Amino acid sequence: MSRHWPRIRAVPQVFEPPAWAQRAACHGSSLDFYVDASKVRNRPAVEEAKEVCRGCAVREDCLQYALRNGEKFGIWGGLSERERSTLRRRAAQKRQKAA
Ligand code: SF4
Repeated sequence: MSRHWPRIRAVPQVFEPPAWAQRAACHGSSLDFYVDASKVRNRPAVEEAKEVCRGCAVREDCLQYALRNGEKFGIWGGLSERERSTLRRRAAQKRQKAA
């Protein structure tokens, strides 16, 4: 199980971790993937987490999950909260232009 799911496992009757989580590179990692990337002092920890994500087989699944569910905190799919926000904004702009 990846690091994303232990908190949520307290309510297994309403939440089933997605199948891709079984293959997460962060599974069993002691790194902090919920590190606050907005703080400069946390940059080394953020880069460490992102390095794990770069080698993750389910990176895209993880990112799409975070985008779909509006995950506000931490590193998901190799992107910080701010990076995901930028991605969402650009996608919305693209959709507006296409409409
Ligand atoms: S992309 Fe990163 S945070 Fe997401 S499952 Fe993989 S290692 Fe974990």
